[in-house]
Formats: sequence, structure tokens, C-alpha cells
Amino acid sequence: MSEKIKYLNSDQFEKLLKTGDKPIILDFFSDDCPPCEVLAPIFEKMADKYEGQIEFVKMMRQDNRELALKLGVTGSPTVLFFNHSEEIGNRMSGFMTKPQVRIAIEEILGDVLPPAKMSRVDCDLIILGGGPAGLSAGIYAGRAKLKTVIVEESICGGQAGSTSHIANYPGTMGPINGKDLVNNMKEQALSFGVRIDDLKEIFEVKLDGPEKYVRTEDVEYYSKAIILATGSRPRETDAIGGKELKGKGVHYCATCDGAMYEGADILVIGGGSSAIEEAVFLTRFAEHVIIVHRRDEFRAAPIEIEEARENKKITILTNKVVKEVKGGDYVLKEAILKDVKTGKEEVLAVSGAFVYVGNEPQTDRFKGQVKLDETGYISALEDTKTNLTGVFAAGDVRTKSIRQVVTATSDGAVAAIMAEKFITAIK
Ligand code: NAP
Repeated sequence: MSEKIKYLNSDQFEKLLKTGDKPIILDFFSDDCPPCEVLAPIFEKMADKYEGQIEFVKMMRQDNRELALKLGVTGSPTVLFFNHSEEIGNRMSGFMTKPQVRIAIEEILGDVLPPAKMSRVDCDLIILGGGPAGLSAGIYAGRAKLKTVIVEESICGGQAGSTSHIANYPGTMGPINGKDLVNNMKEQALSFGVRIDDLKEIFEVKLDGPEKYVRTEDVEYYSKAIILATGSRPRETDAIGGKELKGKGVHYCATCDGAMYEGADILVIGGGSSAIEEAVFLTRFAEHVIIVHRRDEFRAAPIEIEEARENKKITILTNKVVKEVKGGDYVLKEAILKDVKTGKEEVLAVSGAFVYVGNEPQTDRFKGQVKLDETGYISALEDTKTNLTGVFAAGDVRTKSIRQVVTATSDGAVAAIMAEKFITAIK
């Protein structure tokens, strides 16, 4: 825990607001909140980096509900900026990346840091991404005695690391917490001599040519081969107002923000397993949960749909999309639904919307270099080879029909073995 971060209650915070002479960055966090756990090490890293320039404050949202509501904060984590008692800049909510937090701070402070001193790392294999695919690749590459570095922008774990219950990963003897599962994988990779550089912001990737290159804020990595295992991120809603109301009625994490909606009417958007499972979970708090799905067939398993249909607090609306959400004081006031078959619109009075509309690949940095499919995933078959020599793709980022933790780890193993063969051949 960084000593550069102040843990305050609302009284102490309001005092600091009045007397402080520096801008403040405030993180409202909660217990049992995966995106809060992702943000915590990023916040610590930023507190080290911007020491003395901006005051880093954390406040437990559940214990300081009144102030949170006064500031219109209904989601965790929510990050706000203040200067001379006034809120400034853009507040952020939900899963945040290190670049997003850095950019938001730079918008307040400007470019105040001196250029970082760069170091150089030469290795056999770079693995981009520390989720199940990247860690599994690390385990196999480490065992094969390849000099291997895993570079991860956040903390290791990927989406699996934020999943509370994983019941179908073989060999776990019952449901396991995703964080525990990926931590085991991380320890295993480290035990085979793999270097793991997490919380590194990636600025440049060069995949072409015999030498692969990755530049972060302070390290330049050179290797003979590279495995791209950057996974996917939750897709955001395209409803009008969805972006602006994120954290203020529009949410992406039921375990973090569901309790806010005790006795309320809320929406869940999506027709996959996540939407259906989380809708059932949200009935612990909400009076009425309306699932809105754009088709009349579901991606979720029939047994999950059956459970939702049997739940008296759940209504399922099919062939409908959420066209627009409108905000009230702290939460939503209403949502406008459109029937995709008839075009008819209806207005529902709801306080919140939880979005589970699938994921999209994290391939922005590879565009124009490696071949992507029409949906943006990296084109590679089961052998994980891409169109570029020495470049392999593993896990959710690769074109594939089934995306599960077990298929990601399997990809990681294949990619590492392929990379080893490739490196041996060029040696
Ligand atoms: P998903 O299976 O891809 O489902 C996404 C849903 O969102 C689909 O129903 C899709 O509709 C809908 N959708 C996509 N874009 C939309 C948009 N712009 N507007 C409205 N609706 C939109 O995603 P997921 O539920 O997050 O699951 C991801 C993966 O994790 C899956 O492989 C799933 O099996 C797995 N998972 C497993 C478990 C478990 O094992 N317990 C739990 C959760 C998730 P269409 O159907 O029309 O495309």
C-alpha cells in the first residue's frame, strides 16, 4: 500500500478540499469490486509517479454513502478530480486502464514529468498480455528455457482474473475464484524463470522483420518471437446517453454496483451467459429486472434461460434494443426501447442499466501490421501462427468460436511450443 495515498472519510476529505493547495484525485472504491481491484495498483503507481503534484485520495464508497450521493457517484470505482473545492476534468468509472488514468491526470496537470530513463531488454520471446493465454504461454516457454518476458499493461489476470466463480476449469475441485486461478498460473510461470513486467504502458509494437520490438514508458524489449495474448475487453453500450451516464445509472459490474438498486426497477442488456447470470444475481437487490435482448434466440445456455424465466422478479424482452437512456438525479430516469422487427418504441421507467453485450478484441496496436479478421480479431488458426513470421496469437484475441479460460490456456501452450520451434529453427 503506497504511503503517498491518503485514505480519508468524508469529513476529512471535505476539510482537505477547503484547505488543500494541490489538485486532488479521488477514488471512490468498494469491497467485492473487480474493477476496483484492477484500479488499485494503477492508482498506487500513479501516486508514486506524480508525487507532490497531485493529492491521491481513496474513500470507501459504502462507508461514505452520503458524500458519494451528494457528488452523484453511484458506481465503483469512480475517479473524480478537484481543484480549490471545485470538481474539474472528466470523471471516470468502472474498469479503467493505466493509459486512461494517466491521460486524465495529464489533462489536469499537463505534461509535468521529465522523460523516463529507458532501459533495454533482449530476450527470446515477448508475450504481450498476462491473462490465462499469456501466462500459460509463459509456463511452456519458461519450461523450454526460452528467455521470456510477459509484458502486461494492467495486473496479470485478464478478464478471468475479475471473475468471481470459475466452475468449469479442469482440475480445480469445485468453483474457484478467477483471481486465485490466475495467481497460481502467474506463480507457476515465475517458478520457470519467466520475467513478468506488469503495469507497463505499451507505446509502440513492431511485429514486422526478424527482430520484434515493444516499447513501454521505460523499457525497450527486443526478441526473436512474440506472442500476442492481449485478450478482449467488455463492449460498451451503443445506446444514446450510455457513455455519458456510465457510473451514473449505466453499469458494467453487478457485484460492484448492484446493491445501489435495492427495491428498484432495472435493465440488463444482452443475451449471453453474462447477461443472464448477472440478471439473476441482481434480483437479490432489485424489485424488477428486465432483460433486453436484440434477438429471440440466446447465446446463454438453455439451463440459464430457464432459471431466469422461473425467477418471478425477471422479465425477458426479446427483439428489442435499448435506443436511449436518460439520466435522473443520480441514476437513470428512463430508457427508450425499440422493437427491431416493428420499429415501435416504448419508454420504460428504470433506475439503472447493467450492460453485458459481449467483448471486443484488444488489437488496436496491431492494426496495419498483423492480419485481422472482419471483426477485428487476429487471424490465426489452431496453430496460433499469424501472417507474420515469428508472430503468434493466443487466447481471446485470436479468431475462434469458443472463448473460455480453458481454450485460452490451451492456445497459450500451443503458441509457446510453436514459438520455441520457430526460435530453434532460426538459431
Ligand atoms: P456473449 O456470449 O458474446 O453475448 C453477448 C450478447 O450481447 C449477445 O446476446 C449479443 O447479441 C448481445 N450484443 C452484442 N452486441 C450488442 C449490441 N450492440 N447491442 C445489444 N446487444 C448486443 O458475451 P458474454 O455473455 O459476456 O460471454 C462471453 C463468453 O464468456 C462466452 O463464451 C460465454 O460462454 C462465457 N461466459 C461463461 C460463463 C460461465 O461459464 N459461467 C459466464 C459468463 C460468460 P447476439 O446474440 O444477437 O449476438
